[in-house]
Amino acid sequence: MNPNKLIYLDNNATTPTDPRVVEAMLPYFTQHFGNAASRNHPFGWEAESGVDTAREQIADLINVDPREIIFTSGATEADNLAIKGVFEMYAKKGNHIITLKTEHKAVLDSCKKIEKLGGAVTYLDVNNEGLVNLEELEAAITDKTILVSIMFANNETGVIQPMKAIGDICAKKGVLFMSDATQAVGKIPLDPKELGIHLMAFTAHKMYGPKGVGALFVNRKNPRVKVTSQLDGGGHERGMRSGTLNVPGIVGFGKAAALCKAEMAEESKRLSGLRDRLEAELMKIEEVYFNGSKENRMPHVTNLSFKHVEGEGLMMTFNQNIGVSSGSACTSASLEPSYVLIALGLGDDLAHSSLRLSLGRFNTDDDVTAAIEQISAGVQHMRDLSPIWEMYKEGIDLDAVEWSEH
Ligand SMILES: *Cc1c(COP(=O)(O)O)cnc(C)c1O
Repeated sequence: MNPNKLIYLDNNATTPTDPRVVEAMLPYFTQHFGNAASRNHPFGWEAESGVDTAREQIADLINVDPREIIFTSGATEADNLAIKGVFEMYAKKGNHIITLKTEHKAVLDSCKKIEKLGGAVTYLDVNNEGLVNLEELEAAITDKTILVSIMFANNETGVIQPMKAIGDICAKKGVLFMSDATQAVGKIPLDPKELGIHLMAFTAHKMYGPKGVGALFVNRKNPRVKVTSQLDGGGHERGMRSGTLNVPGIVGFGKAAALCKAEMAEESKRLSGLRDRLEAELMKIEEVYFNGSKENRMPHVTNLSFKHVEGEGLMMTFNQNIGVSSGSACTSASLEPSYVLIALGLGDDLAHSSLRLSLGRFNTDDDVTAAIEQISAGVQHMRDLSPIWEMYKEGIDLDAVEWSEH
């Protein structure tokens, strides 16, 4: 095996565009280049027909009506539209939103903006597996609550929340339920209507489609949900999102949805097999900790902490030849530990020692074998050089050591 071969195990950050998707998109750049809103000539009709097909393919994947799909520039925009759009539209009913501490920044920062605008937001804790507490959720709902926003599957751990139970609570209390389902759509079967989800954000580039296109599902009946548009202009997408449609992107998104639907069952089995082998082999290393919930998670993700091995340093041992994410986010000059892992109760050290490994459609058995070899060797190398590891092996209680301040 060539140790310099690049291996991509960061499919939760983005996925490669499937060549079949690219092929479907190509004619929409040069041949069918029309504006889908041009109603009075064939150039517009062709573009519109491409968009219509894609809307049906995407609606079909999640079992909703095509008229319930609002195209956006991605999940970030869809999250913003759902949260800010509901806050504005339902201002007369209340101003309170409930979400989770482990949400994506697109949701958390939209909620922060809501607070600046005079709204109230409750950020619920999760347990040490990353799961919401349903009693706490229910208790947090007041007569001012208009929206519960809880993600389907977490981007760092793959943990899947109890969506049906959350949907039932929201239905009982008469509040809208929004979910950022970016990490789940196209990977596992899901049906927002069955789960009681009224608004759902997702994006093409996490499901083998192109970047820069996403969607918000907005329930049309029982209840009829509306969001105030956040981009004003030509009134596209039923007035909820103005702007000329990204026709090639949308066509690619549709093709990506159709491929996911056709291949999901087999593919999720294949990926969970690869993931389980990767995880089992890496957990044979001493002092490796699993982060998340083994019972409730996506089939292609694992998140592990390698005690006393700093994740970013570990990645350097394999020259970053394996594309993975560590639990340290580079924000400005400092390395912040992942707030998601901190919310699960990890200390800063274990959060900094974590790797997220996320598999995808183009990963092979050989990729997994090579990753196991290189990561295991990297951990060994880092620990061989580490005085902390040496102290730990000598049985010194590191928590009791008084480190001198410099
Ligand atoms: C990637 C991601 C987003 C952002 O999606 P974009 O289309 O890149 O804006 C939002 N939420 C979650 C959970 C994600 O994983």
